[in-house]
Amino acid sequence: MKKMSIDDKLALDLFRTDEEHPHIIVDLDYKDEEEIRKLVLACPAKCYKYDEGIFSFSYLGCLECGTCRVLSRDKIVKEWNHPHGEIGVQYRQG
Ligand code: SF4
Repeated sequence: MKKMSIDDKLALDLFRTDEEHPHIIVDLDYKDEEEIRKLVLACPAKCYKYDEGIFSFSYLGCLECGTCRVLSRDKIVKEWNHPHGEIGVQYRQG
């Protein structure tokens, strides 16, 4: 059996997104590169990006693992909640 890439596994998941109510609020003006790089490396869904000094974030592919909350609560991550109701990720692969 061929080994699946992370992108292939993520593509099997279903996401219901609420584009008006982000469940994670981050401080995109945060300047400590070391803190930013921690999140870029740790987020399994690659929601955090840091390219050529520009920090960006999208909660739309979030796997709700909570890693960023643990790593950077009250620093970069200002608010972290589970999405409301049936919004969010639905896993299809173990
Ligand atoms: S909760 Fe997990 S998947 Fe979602 S943004 Fe944070 S680290 Fe990434």
